[in-house]
Amino acid sequence: MQCQEINSLVMRYFDGNISELELEMIVKHNEKCRRCAEDFEVLKEAIDTLEELPEIEVPAGFAAKVMEGIISGKTYSTNPKVVAFWLVSILGLMVFGWNMAAYVIIPLIRESGIIIAVNNVLIYGFNVISGILSQIIVAASILLGKILVMRNVLLRDYITSVTLIVLTFMAINVFLAYRRKLQEN
Ligand SMILES: [Zn+2]
Repeated sequence: MQCQEINSLVMRYFDGNISELELEMIVKHNEKCRRCAEDFEVLKEAIDTLEELPEIEVPAGFAAKVMEGIISGKTYSTNPKVVAFWLVSILGLMVFGWNMAAYVIIPLIRESGIIIAVNNVLIYGFNVISGILSQIIVAASILLGKILVMRNVLLRDYITSVTLIVLTFMAINVFLAYRRKLQEN
């Protein structure tokens, strides 16, 4: 038996309009044909699930209205306003989702480059500080001897020069970070 014939038998089976013999034909075919057997299982599962769904409470007067409609010969079609509402809602949701992705999420991911830049600045800063610290240690030991001679004057000059060095390094860092950011863009 052809798969197509079995398919129409299956449809009748789910309509509850099938003979014992025809059911047997389906079973026999499905034993040999994997595709039909799978289709049958999927369909059966779907229909069973539908049957398990709780009955929806119909608003009061609904049945009367439907009957009225049937009697008066009105055809019940889906309200175009409702369809339009849903279409617009779904479209709006899609547009919103697209905008979120294009203007918020993707730029956010791109800007995580800032994190790398900040990290670089921190590394520069650490190098600068460790450089200054070693300078201070070297200079301090020299200075210690000089302070004994020139005291406050030298100390003031030293602080000034260290401050200048720090400021210079900071400026270089800011410049490098800025240039890096420019290059990234
Ligand atoms: Zn088949």
